[in-house]
Amino acid sequence: MTATSLPSPRLPLPDPMADQGGDAEAGPPPIPALEHPEAIAAGELLARGFPWMRFPRAIEREFHRHGARQRLRHLVISGVLSLLVFNGFLLADWMVAPDVLRQAVQVRLGLFTPVALLVLGFASLWSDLVVRRIPVQVVESIVLVSSVCAAASVAYILSITHSVGSAYYHVGFIVVLTYGNVVQRLRFWYAVVASAAIMAMHLWCATMIPTPEPRLMPPLMTLLLATAFFTLMANHALERDERRRYLLSLRRRHLLQQLDTAHDRLQKISRVDGLTGVFNRHHVQEYLEQAWRRAAHEGSEIAVILIDVDHFKKYNDFYGHQAGDTCLQQVAQAIKGALRRPTDVVARFGGEEFIAVLPSTDAAMASQAAERVRHAVEALQRPHEASDTARVVTASVGVANCRATPVRESSTLVEAADQSLYRAKHAGRNRVVVQRLM
Ligand code: GH3
Ligand code: MG
Ligand code: MG
Repeated sequence: MTATSLPSPRLPLPDPMADQGGDAEAGPPPIPALEHPEAIAAGELLARGFPWMRFPRAIEREFHRHGARQRLRHLVISGVLSLLVFNGFLLADWMVAPDVLRQAVQVRLGLFTPVALLVLGFASLWSDLVVRRIPVQVVESIVLVSSVCAAASVAYILSITHSVGSAYYHVGFIVVLTYGNVVQRLRFWYAVVASAAIMAMHLWCATMIPTPEPRLMPPLMTLLLATAFFTLMANHALERDERRRYLLSLRRRHLLQQLDTAHDRLQKISRVDGLTGVFNRHHVQEYLEQAWRRAAHEGSEIAVILIDVDHFKKYNDFYGHQAGDTCLQQVAQAIKGALRRPTDVVARFGGEEFIAVLPSTDAAMASQAAERVRHAVEALQRPHEASDTARVVTASVGVANCRATPVRESSTLVEAADQSLYRAKHAGRNRVVVQRLM
């Protein structure tokens, strides 16, 4: 196998201390709240609905912030297209109100179009600035004003024309209203305001401007009213769907985050010993396997240390199980404190036995590390009246080291460390025995 084809380790290399399965004192990571408050609020809004087309303040702000860029894009594109249609109406001006065609050209091409192009150009060139700096209310108000101005241009032409067909020109209000409510899709309450303003303008034109066809006014007014009603309904439905989609995406985002957190937590819990907070046997076996493969590939040395608390059964019998648990926690911390290289991994091997895997470690270094561990346990100075070895809690330490090779199994190293530990016990406990496998 070449250096490039070596599989990268699946397990993260352990961080010194912090990642050694979490702190015994700190306990396992906290259980996350079942659902984020924002996700709960989104769920309630979805169930309850939001007939007033408004969310609670924080969600409302996020809704607009989240969709601001897309909304601006829609407003600019539909704005440009509608400018084309707006100027295309010059054809209607020419057919229905030919006597004021010059003024119509002035209003449409000379006034409305340049102003609209300026606003649209600014919005597309400096879209970042608009999205970040200009409040959404201002953007929506500008759209509202553009609709009302388009209607005002219809009213202006109506007020100056003496053409016999001018009554038909009132249809222009219906077009502007439909455009604002359905095409430009003004936010609902802005659409209500714009519709009211356009209808008021139409009412004024129908009653105040003399027309050759007064009988046409009531049906036209009814038509405008019905159009306003139906387009506002459509506008309401469109915005409701947009808001629903946002709430669903909000919930999904939070649920995915929650799933991630839960997954991380499970990963951690499944690798950590519940009592002592160091890694468990399952993790250290996987880690040893990886470290062994890597060492075999590099041709480097590796060491395993087994640590067994001396006379622990007697400790339990003398001080009680609870004190025994506390003792194991302190011993685990002491071992961790003595082995601080980022690649050293400490785990509880079972009962009152601990194991440490030390990659890239020769026999001399392993022996020193093991002696540090033994000393750290003794230095706890935890009284052990029932011990035959010392007056305090002590540990026997078995070490094995070798140069890893692909033909040898990592378990041989653990077996050798176990033999060393056995010898340490028999030699009188509270000592280190090192064995180097050839
Ligand atoms: P030696 O000096 O030869 O190692 O003897 P020992 O008493 O330490 O070893 P032995 O295997 O005879 O006993 C181990 C004891 O560890 C027995 C068991 O009750 C205790 N033990 C194992 N797991 C736990 C635990 O999680 N909490 C406590 N309090 N005791 C434990
Ligand atoms: Mg034991
Ligand atoms: Mg023991």
